[in-house]
Amino acid sequence: MEVKRPPGGRRTIRTVRFGHEILRQADELACFTEDAPRLTRRYLTPQHRQAGNHLLGLMREAGMDAGFDALGNVVGRYRAAAPDAPVVMSGSHMDSVRNAGRYDGLFGVLSAVACVRDLSSRGRRLPFTFEVVAFGDEEGVRFGVTLIGSRAMAGTFDPAWLEVKDADGISLREALAAFGGDPEGWRTLDRRGSGVVAYVESHIEQGPVLLNAGLPVGVVTAIAGGSRIRVTVGGLAGHAGTVPMGARRDALAAAAEMTLAVERIASAPGRDGAALVGTVGVIEARPGAINVIPQDVVFTVDLRSSSDDARRAAVTELREAVAAIARRRRVEAGFDEFYRFAAAPCDAGLQDALAAAITRQRVPVRRLASGAGHDAMVFPPLCPTAMLFVRCGANGISHHPDETMTADDAEIATAVLLDFLEHHDPRGSK
Ligand SMILES: [Zn+2]
Repeated sequence: MEVKRPPGGRRTIRTVRFGHEILRQADELACFTEDAPRLTRRYLTPQHRQAGNHLLGLMREAGMDAGFDALGNVVGRYRAAAPDAPVVMSGSHMDSVRNAGRYDGLFGVLSAVACVRDLSSRGRRLPFTFEVVAFGDEEGVRFGVTLIGSRAMAGTFDPAWLEVKDADGISLREALAAFGGDPEGWRTLDRRGSGVVAYVESHIEQGPVLLNAGLPVGVVTAIAGGSRIRVTVGGLAGHAGTVPMGARRDALAAAAEMTLAVERIASAPGRDGAALVGTVGVIEARPGAINVIPQDVVFTVDLRSSSDDARRAAVTELREAVAAIARRRRVEAGFDEFYRFAAAPCDAGLQDALAAAITRQRVPVRRLASGAGHDAMVFPPLCPTAMLFVRCGANGISHHPDETMTADDAEIATAVLLDFLEHHDPRGSK
């Protein structure tokens, strides 16, 4: 039975040592890059191996058993006293986008390892085995498949991915073999039925909500689901000087109006109050000459919401808006929702437990949805899942070298995770 501590008090005094060390470790890991002075670390590259070896050292120093698994994930275990104890997992990814920041992903690994270092320095064992994973691939930069490591553990690895090739024509299967992994080893990583009772991930927010609220951390309610849509618009080319305005079937002007419809629909509150975001990120117009009326346009739409109902309703509304604009402007329009993924709700009990840990750090509790995808999004079918968001500076910028966080925020976030772990009793949850 955990002894209840009074709110605040000696907890805040005892933990003033994580922040600077974590930021220093993130600086060290940023040196394992494919294109210094920028930071790019793709899956199954030599830099992945080097960063993984560095993390293994940190995990072992902290008191964990650690190693690479068959797919290049780095896995550390801080064992419970009881051999058949349940498992609580934490961690995040160690790969990066191109020209990345240094805290995306790795903060969640370093913060969890710092918790273990503190626990083992006090000889404190938990009533569960605490497993920290640095996933080899989350961003999907090299093979175009995202979340390879975490999906293998959640039991949703698709063996067809082994034949997917990178830009150099190297398949995932070949890259795994060259890395020293085992292409068929994904079968052994499936953790379903293996006693994993929770997955809890810390991650920088990658947005400005906590920054604007003046809060160091927040509890994630859900990871947004998304729809990706390709819209094609067919008009009629003509001479820019001779075709009267009223006689035109300008595909680009129609696409511009459709783009504004995306903005309008995404700006309205969802049916159940959930926020939507919508982005037209790619637009191509042909023939693409300054003196020719555009005839063929293709543009993409990325729509996201923590509410699948709100997102589906927005897709329907957009489909109708595109058709109406096309009719009025006498152009053809095609609408293809070519990819969609469901929102991943975070577990209510674990959210409350994180909120209680935040309160014990004397920080107001803010709950917010994650608009970005994370390793945590694949775990709800496996086990109750939660995420802690940490404020990032510089307007919340991420996936960019200007990504920042402060030592104070790293400190508080790590103290929250540690406090959560010390209060978590898997026998009290399902
Ligand atoms: Zn990330």
